[in-house]
Amino acid sequence: MDKYDNSKGVGNQKSIYKNPLKIRLTGFDIDKKSFEINFWVFDHHSSMAEMIGPRLYCCCNCRNHVALHDDVISKAFQGRNGRAFLFSHAMNVSMGPKEDRHLMTGLHTVADVYCSDCREVLGWKYERAYEESQKYKEGKIILEKSKIVKENW
Ligand SMILES: [Zn+2]
Repeated sequence: MDKYDNSKGVGNQKSIYKNPLKIRLTGFDIDKKSFEINFWVFDHHSSMAEMIGPRLYCCCNCRNHVALHDDVISKAFQGRNGRAFLFSHAMNVSMGPKEDRHLMTGLHTVADVYCSDCREVLGWKYERAYEESQKYKEGKIILEKSKIVKENW
């Protein structure tokens, strides 16, 4: 009769097993308790994996996310203050008015690109290029290297 009651106790323990917090506190059986600890370690790792996101560039002033590393077309551009990157698109930015500018590569219609949060000027957008060799830049965005910082690298 004692043996029968004991097996019933094990059965009850299995039903409690569905709730990890309760089984850690009861711990009738050392083997089953160690299994519970392993389950928690596994769960911890799966939630860590979800935190791995895309590599981002942020506004240097307020850390607003403004571009993805995957959207870099070229890192060999010249900005107003040194090196600049050409992106296929940016996010969380605002555009200033369009204006014609004579750049080293000829006449372009461009618009300043601002951080939509803090209004820092980060670069410009090529609205239109007039020379055939420069047409690939149309619709693309320049962000100055000195105005953006890496996040999640
Ligand atoms: Zn900003």
